[in-house]
Amino acid sequence: MKKEEDEYAVKTALLDARVYYNEEMEKHFQAKDWLEQAELQKLHEEIGDTAIENTKKEVDLTADQEKQLRKLMLNLYKRYDDKNLLRKPQDTYAIGIDLGTTYSCVAVCIKGKVKVIPCDEKTTIPSYVAFNADNSISVGEAAKDQAFRRPESTIFDAKRLIGRKFSDKIVKQDMELWPFQVIGDNDQPRIKIPGHQNTYRPEEISARVLFHLKKIAEEYLNKTVTNAVVTVPAYFNDSQRQATKDAAEIAGLNAKILNEPTSAAIAYDLQWTSDFKRNVLIFDLGGGTFDVAVLQIKGGKIDVKAIGGDTHLGGEDFDNEMVKHIIEVVKKKTGKDLGRGRNSMNPEEKRSASERLRRIRSVCEKQKRLLSSSTSTTIIIDRIDESYDLNEQFTRKTFEDLNMANFKKCIEITAGVITDAKMKKGNIEDIVLIGGSTRIPKIRELLTKYFGGKALNSTVNADEAVAYGAAVQAALEYGKRDEVSKNVWVSDVTPLSLGVEIHGGLMSVIIPRNTRVPCSKKSQYATLYDWQKVVNFSIFEGEDPLAKDNNKLGEFKLSGIPIARAGEEKIDLTMEVESDGIFHVTAVCRSTRGTKTIKIEAHKGRMSKKEITSAKKRNLKFH
Ligand code: AMP
Repeated sequence: MKKEEDEYAVKTALLDARVYYNEEMEKHFQAKDWLEQAELQKLHEEIGDTAIENTKKEVDLTADQEKQLRKLMLNLYKRYDDKNLLRKPQDTYAIGIDLGTTYSCVAVCIKGKVKVIPCDEKTTIPSYVAFNADNSISVGEAAKDQAFRRPESTIFDAKRLIGRKFSDKIVKQDMELWPFQVIGDNDQPRIKIPGHQNTYRPEEISARVLFHLKKIAEEYLNKTVTNAVVTVPAYFNDSQRQATKDAAEIAGLNAKILNEPTSAAIAYDLQWTSDFKRNVLIFDLGGGTFDVAVLQIKGGKIDVKAIGGDTHLGGEDFDNEMVKHIIEVVKKKTGKDLGRGRNSMNPEEKRSASERLRRIRSVCEKQKRLLSSSTSTTIIIDRIDESYDLNEQFTRKTFEDLNMANFKKCIEITAGVITDAKMKKGNIEDIVLIGGSTRIPKIRELLTKYFGGKALNSTVNADEAVAYGAAVQAALEYGKRDEVSKNVWVSDVTPLSLGVEIHGGLMSVIIPRNTRVPCSKKSQYATLYDWQKVVNFSIFEGEDPLAKDNNKLGEFKLSGIPIARAGEEKIDLTMEVESDGIFHVTAVCRSTRGTKTIKIEAHKGRMSKKEITSAKKRNLKFH
């Protein structure tokens, strides 16, 4: 009994020490806008020593217990150190950008406080770019507002195209619904604007959105901004990440890439001063993409356990279901096909079809938002087709029925990510909702049910959390170069397996999906036939056992292999993934070690340096 009492007394004393440390540190921390690092460290040491002394007065501390208490206080101190760094007065600012499919957002960290920068009193701007008749460009709200007048020259959804091939079946499906024209050039999608000689890559469209956000930030800060952290869905593959980086470069930004759920987790984590370990699930359902991540947060350290999602699942898909339904209903009722002429060769028919569809989609999107708070609404568009006025009742129930398969898919993907994280749903402590589409009641209901009635967390702002976290990361990344330590740190994982094609067209995985990054893995291959001088490597990412059904990233040849019998010459293939998910491949012939190293060449389909430079010039011309 005595022993138990002693143990209890020690536990209580340790907790008291921790409370004392936090209260004292907080008091000094709040008293000034910013503390010199040496001053903060001195405070930590003094308060820490007093905490230990006080504890020793209460109980007998063993050497081990004292060590444990000091370690605990050091962890708390690291958080203060990081927060203090964010408050440091700065001459230059790095910004955080959430480059969304439908909406984008920019934030900056000023003296420890994150400011989501407003534009015309709104904190998000539509990711829309309009090429105007006078050769100027509008971005954001101004572009979206005039979309109905010039649908073929108003571009959105660039994020759905970026880093994809023209032959991608998702691109083909999307093209059916876009009012603007996309053509293929060497299997690269290009956007064609009526009256323009040039065609535009999706990178250039995204660059315009990024450029606009950069300008908003510069105006707000009254300073030039060149450094940024740009977020991408966790499920973005290597070429989508590279292309996003290229878009930033065209916009005049030196950007680092960060996964959206990780960014949201940073925003979420900042609310906590505790250093207890928590398993957090980030459920991010936006306009175009769905991302799920399971992370472990402890004392400022964010450890991503598994990620998953769908690069093509979100609010726009829900809107499309509504549009299809409305077309069907009107067809049944009146025999009128509101979608007619979509694929017509006649430019006038095609133009009026795209205008009609755009108007229907726009109203559907607005009414969908309304259906999150009411159970019924009406889709009204005057003179949608000549003198025909659209006026259809639309209930929340119909919306849910139309999208049930999509909603269930979200839950299935969530379950898969929890399994990948080697956890059970009961291990998840917090479920954090991000993205505009998480306001849909049915999604919340299905998610709560899946987690056995667990409450969902909506404490972070669903629209701003990603940009918020990116701003914090930007301040830490760019503001801390001269500092040795880095306390808030993130360890991410690879979204897809990486490997090479081997004999029989099979995919030989070198780095499995959900491997922690940065990482480097080596695999050995041998020559296949006698006197083989050259080995061709094709690099893929994806989960299919057949290489051809995965995404090809590039290929290269390793030549100069010494003459030998089949299997005698060995080649080491090393794959390295950097912390932002960008990767390199090196092949070394063992017998000539050190002399035959080849790095994977520029991405297939990626913009060359020359192309980026000329896109940059073109971008500036449009001012
Ligand atoms: P995000 O990409 O996170 O900005 O999310 C934008 C998507 O969220 C768009 O498809 C919006 O239509 C959708 N959205 C925003 N608010 C709501 C709402 N109240 N109910 C349903 N969907 C919404």
